[in-house]
Amino acid sequence: MSVTSRDIVVVGGGPAGTTTALALAHAAPGLARRVVVLEKARYPREKPCAGALGGRGDALLGDLGVTIDVPSAHVDGISFHGARGAAEASPGRIGRVVRRVEFDYALARAAASRGIEVRDGVGVERLHDDDGAIVVATTAGELAARVVVGCDGVGSVVRKSMGLGAGELRAQVIEVDTEPVPGDRDRALLHFDSADRRIAGYAWDFPTVVDGRALVCRGLYHLKTPRDASRDGPDLGALLAERLRGLGIDPARCQNKRYAERGFEPAARLAQGRRMLVGEAAGIDPVTGEGIAQAIEFGVLAGRFLARTLGNGREGPGELEGWQHVVAASRLARDLRLRVRLMGLFYGPWRAEVEAFLAETPAALFVGCQHFAAQPRDWARVGEVAGHAVARVTAARIAALLAR
Ligand SMILES: Cc1cc2nc3c(=O)[nH]c(=O)nc-3n(C[C@H](O)[C@H](O)[C@H](O)COP(=O)(O)OP(=O)(O)OC[C@H]3O[C@@H](n4cnc5c(N)ncnc54)[C@H](O)[C@@H]3O)c2cc1C
Repeated sequence: MSVTSRDIVVVGGGPAGTTTALALAHAAPGLARRVVVLEKARYPREKPCAGALGGRGDALLGDLGVTIDVPSAHVDGISFHGARGAAEASPGRIGRVVRRVEFDYALARAAASRGIEVRDGVGVERLHDDDGAIVVATTAGELAARVVVGCDGVGSVVRKSMGLGAGELRAQVIEVDTEPVPGDRDRALLHFDSADRRIAGYAWDFPTVVDGRALVCRGLYHLKTPRDASRDGPDLGALLAERLRGLGIDPARCQNKRYAERGFEPAARLAQGRRMLVGEAAGIDPVTGEGIAQAIEFGVLAGRFLARTLGNGREGPGELEGWQHVVAASRLARDLRLRVRLMGLFYGPWRAEVEAFLAETPAALFVGCQHFAAQPRDWARVGEVAGHAVARVTAARIAALLAR
């Protein structure tokens, strides 16, 4: 089997890759036939992921005329438990929990239905530049590309071909699907628990629907910052087993899924010559590891950028360098930069203060829910959150001065 050469080769058929192709075809329908999406696995393929998708992701797809109708658990809010208290906010429908095996397949079918060639079972092994083109070596032979879009996630081959390392903000994640237990909270909420100081992260319990059964996806997220990159992280398998036993679930009867995640680094390179990175190949939210809606938003930006650049016939060596500026100026990058700053607060010396703040300020969770859902901001609540934050910081400073 050989792969037909295409001008635009998208490596990876997860949400970033298929949305890039969909957004490109939406902005410049004439370019749809110049794209091929290469996916190394065969659909329907599993992707370790809890599947919580904010309304933002569905709204972005809706703007492209795409609706992904797959079994989902609806989400109305968030509940939080920390070492210094608990809180919850439930503003109404803010998103859903999907299974990636179904969601990504449906997204790939949506792309194919618009004339985009999606080739599954074709893995990219290497890339090299050759006389103004990129030669893409795949498991099904070689093809020549004018541009290559790296949407190949955390282990990105495209990223490696650009000489970039794995990134400084890496997370380890482990999850398992179980039956609900009596101690579970409201099923319509995404539940986060950051009380365990052995992880720089949190435990979660999210509703999920697996083969028509209402189950709970439970997992642990641990962020390895540059400071502790050299040290062994906690044994997440043992910590998850301990948590499951605490809920009365026998861990031996559960099948763990493990994976890594890559956090966004504002100064990191995202384009080089005729290659660019999109979605988790570039980096996603390091605070929570949320990446589906981010991958979709990255894809929308990338598709529009490629339509502008290639549609004008302006591409040439280095033309994709503009991608760096497009991302830097985007809403997505502003959001991710804010989350990088919050990361220092959540997992640094202020962790207990932040937990106390969240427990005392349900408005903060409410604002977070609206952000997840891409709902209009409730400025009165934003003001309330800002007021509480200023009061807390001022009180902490006064206490520190008095303690001198
Ligand atoms: C355990 C876990 C739980 C998570 N839970 C959530 C959650 O609840 N909500 C949320 O928003 N995010 C969550 N995330 C993050 C989310 O899964 C990712 O950020 C998101 O999938 C990124 O999308 P992507 O398209 O960039 O990459 P991916 O979804 O990783 O897609 C990359 C695709 O590229 C393919 N590929 C890789 N290499 C090659 C190659 N060489 N050739 C061809 N194809 C290739 C892969 O097979 C894959 O299909 C979670 C992550 C983990 C690990």
